[in-house]
Amino acid sequence: MVKSIVKMNGFETPEKAKKETKKRIKWLYKVDEPAHRLLAGRMEDCIDYRKQIGEKIGQPCNSRACFLCNKDLREKIVDEYVELIDGDPRDYMLMTIIPYQLWFKHHELDDFNLSRVKREFREQLKSAGFQGPIIGMFEMDFHTPDEVWGPHFHLILPYTDRNQRAYKNYQNMKNWSDAIEFAPHISHRPFHHERIKEGETTEVVSYIHKMMPRERTHYMDKDGKPNSRPRRLKDRLFADSLVKIDQWSYATLRIFWDKKGRW
Ligand SMILES: [Zn+2]
Repeated sequence: MVKSIVKMNGFETPEKAKKETKKRIKWLYKVDEPAHRLLAGRMEDCIDYRKQIGEKIGQPCNSRACFLCNKDLREKIVDEYVELIDGDPRDYMLMTIIPYQLWFKHHELDDFNLSRVKREFREQLKSAGFQGPIIGMFEMDFHTPDEVWGPHFHLILPYTDRNQRAYKNYQNMKNWSDAIEFAPHISHRPFHHERIKEGETTEVVSYIHKMMPRERTHYMDKDGKPNSRPRRLKDRLFADSLVKIDQWSYATLRIFWDKKGRW
């Protein structure tokens, strides 16, 4: 039986989503620039819209940067995707692809063109021979101490022999180990995948739709092994990333490939 996201452990309450949206508004206003103020204003209107009782005037802001609107979106789509996966007799895996060659410094954030990156990515997946359905999302974390943005993709797809072969093909297509000289602290791990455990589909589908850019700090642990820990992204970096996310629609951020291979 499909577990609904609204029943999922840890799924944010409306109060928590509102609190997070208010925090985002505060950080946006701290950056005194028109784009940041504009987005903050739209998110404030969104909170006001939700306060109305009965027949409402206006509409939600529908920005991917608004935690409230993203909660609405997840409530709408996650259960549908989970049903698609749970209704399929095959097992599924979560695959993460980190194209290090696309990583960039913060001052290049404005120029980052997700639509173009996604077009290329789609062609690569096609020629590697992956089989759908594929449900995926784009995401970006900020890596310290190198201070670079790390675009990457999370994909959920059938755990089949064919997709295992495609995974190997894909790994061999490019020189993925291309080092990015400006990020010497990051240990390169461009691909990983793991089988989705029974009963955890809702959590995994929800996880890839979270839209919460984080900071990932890299360090050497006491055994001398490279490790990293995530934490909340703050201040200007978080505000700038919200302005960037706001430029993207859900259709731009997501990857959806049906069983017949249609995007
Ligand atoms: Zn909103």
